[in-house]
Amino acid sequence: MIARGADPPDASQSLGRRACRGIAASPGIGIGPAYLVDRRRIQVPHYAIERAAVRDEIGRFREALRATQEQLEAIKARLPHGEHRQILKAQQMMLRDPDLMHDVEGRIRDQLVNAEWAMIEVAGDVERTLREAADEQFRERSSDVAHLADQVLRNLLGAGDCRIDPPAGAIVIAYDLSPADTAELARADVGGIVTEVGGRTSHSAIMARSLEIPAVVGVEGLTKNVQTSDMVVVDGIHGCVVVRPDPVEVARWEEARRRYDAFEDRVQRDHALPATTLDGVHVTLRANAALDEEVASAVFHGAEGVGLYRTEYVFMNRKAPPSEEEHYRHAKAILRRLSPHPVTFRTFDLGADKVAGYVRDVHGGENPALGVRSLRLALREREMFIDQIKGLLRAALHGPLRIMLPFVSGREELEAALAVFEEAKARLAEDGMAHAVDVPVGIMIEIPAAALAADRLAPLVDFFSIGTNDLIQYTLAIDRENDDVGYLYEPLHPAVLQQLRIVRDAADRAGIPVSLCGEMAADPRYTWVLVGLGLRELSMHPSAIPVVKNIVRQSSFDEMKALAEQVVAASSGREAEALVREVVAPRFREHLEHGGADGLDSAFESALDADAGPGTKT
Ligand code: PEP
Ligand code: MG
Repeated sequence: MIARGADPPDASQSLGRRACRGIAASPGIGIGPAYLVDRRRIQVPHYAIERAAVRDEIGRFREALRATQEQLEAIKARLPHGEHRQILKAQQMMLRDPDLMHDVEGRIRDQLVNAEWAMIEVAGDVERTLREAADEQFRERSSDVAHLADQVLRNLLGAGDCRIDPPAGAIVIAYDLSPADTAELARADVGGIVTEVGGRTSHSAIMARSLEIPAVVGVEGLTKNVQTSDMVVVDGIHGCVVVRPDPVEVARWEEARRRYDAFEDRVQRDHALPATTLDGVHVTLRANAALDEEVASAVFHGAEGVGLYRTEYVFMNRKAPPSEEEHYRHAKAILRRLSPHPVTFRTFDLGADKVAGYVRDVHGGENPALGVRSLRLALREREMFIDQIKGLLRAALHGPLRIMLPFVSGREELEAALAVFEEAKARLAEDGMAHAVDVPVGIMIEIPAAALAADRLAPLVDFFSIGTNDLIQYTLAIDRENDDVGYLYEPLHPAVLQQLRIVRDAADRAGIPVSLCGEMAADPRYTWVLVGLGLRELSMHPSAIPVVKNIVRQSSFDEMKALAEQVVAASSGREAEALVREVVAPRFREHLEHGGADGLDSAFESALDADAGPGTKT
């Protein structure tokens, strides 16, 4: 890669053991020798050409494009159908872009420079424009341009396609990987992938997931500290990488991997079975989602629909809010994929940590978590809100759609929001737009005021969904983004449990369903308590579903209820936690460990805390 690759490993640096944190991009544990991808060796030549040589130079450029097309085609042919093939197809289309050809050839002709230089200059401009784009998806495509330019350059220089050719089982470590690189790695049967850059939605992360290769991305500076053949562990469950672990550690990770793989196989086998307790109580397990990929994952993991679709991501990283038509198309596509299960779309929960540039001027003041955010913002940005509701009401003709309002604090606010629904319906009718009129409308209970006054809100709505992430934050006065107060995060705090009971009772009295969609629902430690408290619907990130389902299927409602009663009577959150652990851990040790609950007690934590030394935790 041009000017983007890793610096060579610094020989002066002590090459001791190292543990680093990154973003968990694809689950699983990989252990093996490092295979360092260093692509910086290409120097881009820059020289003037004679006017008479322009034709040949353009011919060289076209030939390099053709060779690159062929190389991509060859990689594509080796892959099964699916998302990764689509990505390569998109790259082939980029290569055929007439603007690209025109600009490069124009530069060769007008500036009388060699093809390599003209091509790198043009690709650099495109890459910069994409990198600075407001839309995250465009920004992520900038690395595709860089990878393509790299490949065309290699062909111009006669350097071939420089295939990455790691031995089977190797852990590939790179500054960045192109989709084509990652696809190649599937063939090579690599043990894991670690990159310095990339996010959850970068192409290499998507591919690693679809190819089921354990991967961690965003591990800054790693390529400087690894050499090919160093032993490396990749923990794609927790986002942890250990370089040069000692033999005792390797043995521990091998054991962790064996247990993880066996456990995953076991719980996923039940994915299509109902989440019903031994004594016949059914618990509906739904998925939380915000991205298309998670919708596919929800289906794969056996979700009975989506309990929380966080629509604010549709609003972020763009210059203007989405139109009614965009909301309509987006929701319709998701409904189709989940059919026949319902999808619960939460109206936009922008503000605080979820910012959209075009509404930034209406921010929440000194303390955005308590300011104009979420429903408050929606009521202020009425047209934006109406467009979303109109789009959703139209989409509801295509499947079982539910709409959920976030951050409701009291009766008048809820009434004001419901009035917007009436206005949206009236406008649609006026425009002659077909739409559903009986869409279930529910609210999130995530502010203590709403929990405590749930009986005043229940008669106005069709369902409740408890958002424990915010409910715990506001009940215990701990900023959920602030690690320093993380030790006070106690989902089983008596004040939280008390509110869960109040909300459940209010819902029961009004005859409406109540679900729980905060992170607490995904934590296998709490499955017994939540079901025991009478919650019959839990919504969580898709990959947590098989683990929770497996617990439900192996338990009786009676024992869950007995534990919930004990836990509610506990005098503190810690005491409640200890009670749960005492009862649940011996029965579901593996679930707790692999579900992330106790993962931090295992190989992961010891890796980070052992002799890593200062500055090694990233
Ligand atoms: C919650 O607050 O529990 C919730 C599910 O919503 P979010 O995490 O999006 O704030
Ligand atoms: Mg919330």
